[in-house]
Amino acid sequence: MERANIKETNLLFGNLYKRESTDMVVLHHTGGNDIDASAEQIHGWHIKNGWAGIGYHFVIRKDGTVERGRPEWAVGAHASGENDHTIGIHLSGDFLQAKPTAEQIEKCAMLIANLSADYGFPIDREHVLGHGELMATDCPGANLQTLLDDGTITGKANWYRYGAAGQAEIVPKVLPEERIWQFLKGKGLNDYAAAGIIGNLYAESGLSSTNLENYYECKLGMSDDEYTRAVDSGEYQNFVYDRAGYGLAQWTYYNRKAGLLEYARAKGKSIGDLDIQLEFLWQELEMNQSLMKKLAYVDSVREASNAILFDFERPADQSEAVQSIRERYAQDYYDDFALMNKLLLEEEDNMRYNSVTEMPEWAQPTIQKLIDKGLLGGTGGKDKLDLTLEMIRVFVINDRAGLY
Ligand SMILES: [Zn+2]
Repeated sequence: MERANIKETNLLFGNLYKRESTDMVVLHHTGGNDIDASAEQIHGWHIKNGWAGIGYHFVIRKDGTVERGRPEWAVGAHASGENDHTIGIHLSGDFLQAKPTAEQIEKCAMLIANLSADYGFPIDREHVLGHGELMATDCPGANLQTLLDDGTITGKANWYRYGAAGQAEIVPKVLPEERIWQFLKGKGLNDYAAAGIIGNLYAESGLSSTNLENYYECKLGMSDDEYTRAVDSGEYQNFVYDRAGYGLAQWTYYNRKAGLLEYARAKGKSIGDLDIQLEFLWQELEMNQSLMKKLAYVDSVREASNAILFDFERPADQSEAVQSIRERYAQDYYDDFALMNKLLLEEEDNMRYNSVTEMPEWAQPTIQKLIDKGLLGGTGGKDKLDLTLEMIRVFVINDRAGLY
């Protein structure tokens, strides 16, 4: 995101106080005369009012220069009753008669984008206001207020924050299947077992941790998200006993739903939180010792998928048709994750290292020593090394064993 350049003014202030929260920007104008007031000039006026110094945090001049007013961390003096959570931006001019310049509008939007990112508030009309929306005043002038009301300023600010220039900041979303696969592999399961579990979860919920069984969406008149929110807030009290399948594993019976609810509450997380459900699922699996034993030895996707189907999910329909559908889902995940990982590992194994600098750091001293001794790289180390990672590992192990 592009950042507005702030011109320091080094003004001297009386007592200032630290602002504890920041969730709003308030816009002001000079008013009275359409002059290009500077931060220093306004500082003088506000000191004459008996204040600690300029009350606004920023002053945007007509040419778009952004000047520092009161330090950004300090409680301002610009919006009576709202100073303890707001930042004041002053645009120089009288916008009852004149219009803000194009430069002022752009810098104002950029500054709002910067502040919203720094403090974590959204850029909308609840968080970006004109002075007159908080109290009876004609500040910041109708010609500036209009630009707020028609969405010009918040629209531009959102563009500065998220638009073309800001795209690199958008964090790539981790797909639930990736998260679930990592979780299961992290528990030490083999690839077949992990694929068998994830295939069954897909059949149950499409891997959506907020999935409410469709029949109950109609019956209760709530969507997945509405149900989740209502359970979290306590507004809906019948989660445990309503028999509605919910979440990754479509937990249905009262004792399992009670366990899930209790677990989420104890962790202070939403009932629909993916990680919470994975941890709870793992607890349930571990309690089923015969299943865990089977999973430790499965050596096909079908075997793993059926173990979960018969010993864990136990849906009403366990026919051959259901078995093969779940096996196919599991096979898809196996192909996606297990085979892909193997290919990546093989690629790593096939990679050839030709110089010391391109090797992993832990291997460099050993390989350099072997070159210095004339054991690798020909006379004077001039030949291509042509080492695989496996060969490098062997050299390092031998070196640590004192062979060189
Ligand atoms: Zn004002």
